[in-house]
Amino acid sequence: MSYCVAIETMLSEEKKALHKNYHDKYYGFAIHDDNELFCRLVLEINQAGLSWETILKKEASFRKAYSNFDIKKVANYTEKDSERLLADAGIIRNRLKVNAAIENAKTILTLQAEFGSFEKWLEHHRPKTKEEWVKLFKKTFRFTGGEIVNEFLMSIGYLPGAHSENCPVYKQILREKPMWMKK
Ligand SMILES: [Zn+2]
Repeated sequence: MSYCVAIETMLSEEKKALHKNYHDKYYGFAIHDDNELFCRLVLEINQAGLSWETILKKEASFRKAYSNFDIKKVANYTEKDSERLLADAGIIRNRLKVNAAIENAKTILTLQAEFGSFEKWLEHHRPKTKEEWVKLFKKTFRFTGGEIVNEFLMSIGYLPGAHSENCPVYKQILREKPMWMKK
């Protein structure tokens, strides 16, 4: 069942509202802010092994814990910050995921220096197949396996498949000419 359809079958109104907000306003839409791109990448990494719902519920705590995903700030985190994050019950306390966020922030700083922005780095490398993107992400970032890379790129419109074609949001996204549509 696609995400678009699954939401409609959710029984709890609270749960439905949480997913609907993400589905209607964020999922599959382009992001033009590097810190927000970094945020999405970190959230997708943190989802590994967990439900997206868990991540959505914790998003505000994630933002608070990770300096609202300010890439420069996260790249400069010290051992003390890692310990603080690993003690924060509001986020996912996993050393590999915490380290990946910090190391990936450092990597994005170098991409920004070389390409102008993280977004420009993504633009520079498109179009690519899912497999090619996974290869590139694996050699560039930490903790970026196939599923994480696919979800991240679908969620920001670089790969198709976020919405089913009969979903109203699909038409809305088409009007914005997503990256996956461009030649
Ligand atoms: Zn949809």
